[in-house]
Amino acid sequence: RQPTDLNVLADEYLRLAYHGLRAKDKTFNATLNTHFDPSLVKINAVAQDLGRVLLNLFTNAFYAVQKRKEASPPDFAPTVSVATRQLPNGSVEVRVRDNGTGIPASVRQKIFQPFFTTKPTGEGTGLGLSLSYDIVTKAHGGTLEVESEEGQGTEFIITLPA
Ligand code: ADP
Ligand code: MG
Repeated sequence: RQPTDLNVLADEYLRLAYHGLRAKDKTFNATLNTHFDPSLVKINAVAQDLGRVLLNLFTNAFYAVQKRKEASPPDFAPTVSVATRQLPNGSVEVRVRDNGTGIPASVRQKIFQPFFTTKPTGEGTGLGLSLSYDIVTKAHGGTLEVESEEGQGTEFIITLPA
C-alpha cells in the first residue's frame, strides 16, 4: 500500500483507456469531461489494483457509448465524465458517468457476478466488475455502486476511506 492520489490515477487511466481504444479503432471518438477536486486527500491504497478498477470502468463506459452511437442519429455525442470529490467524512469519491446504452434492471442484478457479460465472445470476460467489487470493498473497505437508466446512461460511484 502507498499514499495514492486518485486525481492522478484517474486522469492517467482515463487517457490510457481512451487512447488505447482509439489506437485500435480510428473512428472511435468521445468527449471526455473531468472534474478533479483539488482538495482530494491521498488514500492508503494498492494503486495498481485501483488502477485496474478504473480502467475497467472507463473501458465499459467507452464500450457503452460506442454501442449507443451505432444505434443513434449522427448528432449523438458520446460522452464519458469522471469526477472526484472529497467527502466531509474523510472518504474520497470517484464518479464515472457515461451517456451510453444504460443497463436494463434485469441485467443490473448480475453485473457484479463473476463471468457475467453481455458482450460477444472475445470482447468481454465478465470479470471486470466482479474483481472491481472485491478490490474496492474487501481490499480497501470502500463501496461500489451503480445507477443506470436504460437508453440514457450509467454512473458508477466508488467511495474509499482515507
Ligand atoms: P465485461 O466488460 O467483460 O463484460 P464487466 O464485469 O466489466 O465485464 O461488466 C459486466 C457487464 O456489465 C457488461 O457486459 C455490461 O453488460 C454491463 N456494464 C458494465 N458497465 C456498463 C456501462 N457503463 N454501460 C452499460 N453496461 C455496462
Ligand atoms: Mg469490463
